Amino acid sequence: MRCHPLLLLALALAACSQPIKPDTLAPLPDQRVILISLDGFRADFLDRGLSPNLAAIADRGVRARWMTPAFPTLTFPNHYTIVTGLHPAHHGMVANTIRDSALGVFRMSDTMANRDPRWWGGEPIWATAEKQGRRAAAFFWPGSESGAGGRAPSRWLPFDDKFPDAARVDSVLHWASQPPGTAPAITTLYYSNVDHAGHDSGPDSPDVDSAIVHVDRMVGRLVTGLRERGLTDRTNIVVVSDHGMAPRPATKLIALDDFISLSDVNVVEWSPVGMLIPAPGRDDDVYQKLRAASPHLSVYRRADVPERFHFRDSPRIPPLILVADEGWSITSRSRVASWRAQGGGHGWDNALPSMRAIFVAAGPAFRSGVVVDPFQNIHVYSLMTHIMGLNPAPNDGTLDSVRTLLRQ
Ligand SMILES: [Zn+2]
Repeated sequence: MRCHPLLLLALALAACSQPIKPDTLAPLPDQRVILISLDGFRADFLDRGLSPNLAAIADRGVRARWMTPAFPTLTFPNHYTIVTGLHPAHHGMVANTIRDSALGVFRMSDTMANRDPRWWGGEPIWATAEKQGRRAAAFFWPGSESGAGGRAPSRWLPFDDKFPDAARVDSVLHWASQPPGTAPAITTLYYSNVDHAGHDSGPDSPDVDSAIVHVDRMVGRLVTGLRERGLTDRTNIVVVSDHGMAPRPATKLIALDDFISLSDVNVVEWSPVGMLIPAPGRDDDVYQKLRAASPHLSVYRRADVPERFHFRDSPRIPPLILVADEGWSITSRSRVASWRAQGGGHGWDNALPSMRAIFVAAGPAFRSGVVVDPFQNIHVYSLMTHIMGLNPAPNDGTLDSVRTLLRQ
């Protein structure tokens, strides 16, 4: 059944909205943040001349040359890093598919796991805001359904990627139009279009160009709506992405069963970062064979993962980590038969130019017309708490790393 967009909008306005209690803390200056994620929007996509609304935000505000994603350059780890300021090893969302010895298996599509706070460590920005007497709202974000950090946002929706894109903006504008005190201080908004196009058709495809145009129009709709409602002077728009996108040719495949017996390992994640739990007693043999397998595959024990990945400190990181070179996929003979590498992908080394994310922002807190050097996405949480006058929870980022973005 297809729902009418207006019906969906009505549902969005009603669903999951909790009764709003008066603020219990002293009033804070009403500085707000709308955090928009454009999934898979690679840094250089901004230079294609297809996103005039993002360019206008950068012109009146700030833009980083790029933002460095966390490793692995996957959707769930990075979205949750952006809202917690924690490396994936520290918030526990270490991949899109995770095995935990007590909780079992996490999958992105598993609604129960998405709503189980035990999977989601740290304190996301919406919990920080709600705990300190401000309101938060999420029009989708990984973790926003979980109650992580001890507080859910006052408004959130069950993830539905078919929810009409313009209606998402209209809901956010409706929330922003509420009186001060009930309007959210922090709102998240999410679009997957560029990521989907990049996977299906590759980063250099016309499909990606069309998706860039489309999500840019959504950003423009938000900017215009805020202006019409007189909210520009208190609203800081922060547009980010989680990672970039690289071509993933069907010729660059590493089939693990060419080198080891798959009965010797439990493969938690396949590609492009393989996460393997060797069967008892098989660890050394598997490790040695995979190390010799391919010049396009780096194989690490958890304790030896390069320090710059910050990917050692969680028991959810399996004993063996395989990192494929850019464009290469880790697979098996049987998976090759049913799944063809093609189009584009991400997940590779977070230092690769192809994995770079975007950071574009404007509003009363930000300087005007400034392009800053790249920074890591762990700092966005500190930035947002500062803008809203909130005390940040302990995290891996620092305000000093992004102070150059701010009006003094
Ligand atoms: Zn993706």
